Order: sequence, then C-alpha cells, then structure tokens
Amino acid sequence: MKELFKALEEEFDNMVAFRRDMHMYPELSHHEEKTPEKIAQFYKDLGATDVRTRVGGRGVVATLEGGKPGRTVALRADFDALPIQDAKDVDYKSKVDGVMHACGHDIHTSTLLHVAKVLFANRDKVPGKVVFLHQFAEEVIPGGAKFMIEDGALDGVDGVFGAHVISTMPFGKVGALSGPFMASGDTFEITVQGKGGHAGMPQHNQDPLTVATTLFQSLQTIVSRDTDPLKSGVVSVTTFNTGEANFNVIPDQVEIKGTVRTLDDETRDNAEEKIRQMTENIAKAYGMSAEVDYTRGYPVVVNDAEETARISRLQKEVMGEDNVIDITPQTSMEDFGYYLLERPGCFFIVGGTMPDSGDVFPHHHPNFNVDERSMINIGKMFIATVFDYNGDER
Ligand code: MN
Repeated sequence: MKELFKALEEEFDNMVAFRRDMHMYPELSHHEEKTPEKIAQFYKDLGATDVRTRVGGRGVVATLEGGKPGRTVALRADFDALPIQDAKDVDYKSKVDGVMHACGHDIHTSTLLHVAKVLFANRDKVPGKVVFLHQFAEEVIPGGAKFMIEDGALDGVDGVFGAHVISTMPFGKVGALSGPFMASGDTFEITVQGKGGHAGMPQHNQDPLTVATTLFQSLQTIVSRDTDPLKSGVVSVTTFNTGEANFNVIPDQVEIKGTVRTLDDETRDNAEEKIRQMTENIAKAYGMSAEVDYTRGYPVVVNDAEETARISRLQKEVMGEDNVIDITPQTSMEDFGYYLLERPGCFFIVGGTMPDSGDVFPHHHPNFNVDERSMINIGKMFIATVFDYNGDER
C-alpha cells in the first residue's frame, strides 16, 4: 500500500489542476452539467468499463473490479457548489458570477478521481470491488444522495465511506466519531393568517404579529423545556416576513421560516409535533388560524461503531497518533446520512486550514478556502480503507 500512497503523492499536481479547474467553473445543485461530464470522461480515460451517468439525476457511479477477491466498498465525493460570490484573491477564483465552491466539494471530487486513477493503475492488487460515488446536489434538501440510492447507487455495496475537508480544522489533523455525528436538518414554514387593516384602529383587525411574536418566543421552549437536557437540538427562526412594510398598516399575514436540527429521531419527532401543536393553539388563543408546512430534510449522520473503529485505527496508522483528534457531534448537516441508513460505514473529517492564511474562514463563507494538500490525506485514507476493508495485508 505504501507504493499506492507514493503513486497518489505523485498525482498531487494533477489533483490541484483538476480541483482548480472545478473551482473556476462551479455549478449549482441540480444544475451540474459540465462537472459530471468531466467526471465521467475521467473514468473513460482510465479505461473504466462500468461508468453510469445521470444516476438519480446527475450522479456518476464508476466501479472497479479488483484483481483479488473481496467485498464491495463504496467511496463518496459530492460535486455541487453554492450560490455565493467568490471573494478570494487567487488566480483560480470562480469565473461564474454568484456561484462558488465554498464547501470543498471540488477538493472531495478531485481526491476521489485521483484515488480511482491510482487504484485503476494497480487493479491486480486491489481486493474486491470499489464503487466510486460522485454525488450531485448535496447542498439542497432532500439531497442528491437520496435519489442516487433510489437509482441503485448502493446495489451490491457492503460498506460506504466518505470524508469532508474542514477549513476550521488544522491541516494534517483528522477525526472520526462513532454514532450520531451530524444533525438532521428539517425546515418549517408557518403562515399566520390575521385580518389586516388600519394600525390606528387595531380593535377592528386581527393582528397576526400577536400570534407570530408569541410563537417566536414559544418555539424556543421546545429545546429549553421539552428536550432532554442531555440530548440536544436547535430550533432557529430565520425569516419573519410581514409583506409590504408600512407604519400604519397591520399586516394580513405573517410568514415565519426556520430550521430544526437534532441528533436523534426522538428529539426530531418531538420538535415537529410541538411546532404543529404550538402553532395551532397559539393562533387559536388569539382567534386566528395558522398553517405549518414542515419538510423533513437530511437524516442524522450516524456512523457505524465497527466501521468508525476501523477508520480511527487507520487514521492513527496513516496520519500518526498525534494527528487524530477527538471530535464532537456537529449541528451542521450532510446528506451522507442517507447512505448510512442503508449500509454500515463512516463519514470522517480531515483538517484543511490554510497555512499562514491569517483569518480562517468557515464553510459557506465568500473567502472560504482550504489547504490543497488535504487531498493527499483524504486520498490516503480512502486507499487504506479499501485494503483494510478486505483484511488485505498491506
Ligand atoms: Mn459540504
């Protein structure tokens, strides 16, 4: 396996070139066209005979049949970008106005492609089968993973693995957490119906703001009063819209939007139920009505205990014991959770803070960037996983 690591390191310039090209031409979720074409072409150039395109929509799935017997392991990389204006001052800055790879999906894609290149070149050493999952639309609920799975992306797959580069985690560090790792993400839209009119004569109207503001306060008690203090959740109201604003008009309607994040299904179900209950009853208390549109987003990312133990052990072997850090559950979300509902596996993180960059920018920030050498670290972990998964001596 050491030779394969070396082969991957020799691909570094190519990895950077592919990543930067992707960075310059980002494509939004569900609008990816050139990106999946380039990915499919890459596999054809490797001599891959099993390449499926338009999987579940815009996904690409390539399979490598290794030269040795073994199980089938899937590795996943996402490839969509975000509606953010790139503010970085680099020569590979996004050339598409208002669209940017601000989450590192370009890093993930280039890594997986070059891992594939190394494995295809060493086919006779590879145990079992390797399925390369190139996923579209990770950033938009309900997530491309769901559609790809429905279209058979995991057929014949025994275990599934993925990694995320993290801009705020020091380069060179890695981590994996068993059990619930990333939150479920749901959205809600509440419409409070009142009766608008003259603000100087409120007695003739039904002010929906009375209901909406009471509701805004009450929703916070779902976490503080209705959730097991040893579990956790987030209920965030992010939009509060009264329509055309005016000093002397009581609005007819108020629209509230927000998100719910939890790390277990019980807390999630409870939050949805309480939002519905509070909305209905608070509106009723003021003689008005309100409607809730609750959309279930990504499931919790739950890492399999055994597979996470494997990844943690490999992280120590590949990166060195000192570079494996303890990590805690995150309230960000990832549609990788769908794969983990279907197959045991692990989604782990790899540090990517730029050296000497001064400020460190978080994901989804206009100045987001990561150390490109993180591609080598993710790639080595993927290669190690493929071999270890089949108990192959390395
Ligand atoms: Mn991401």
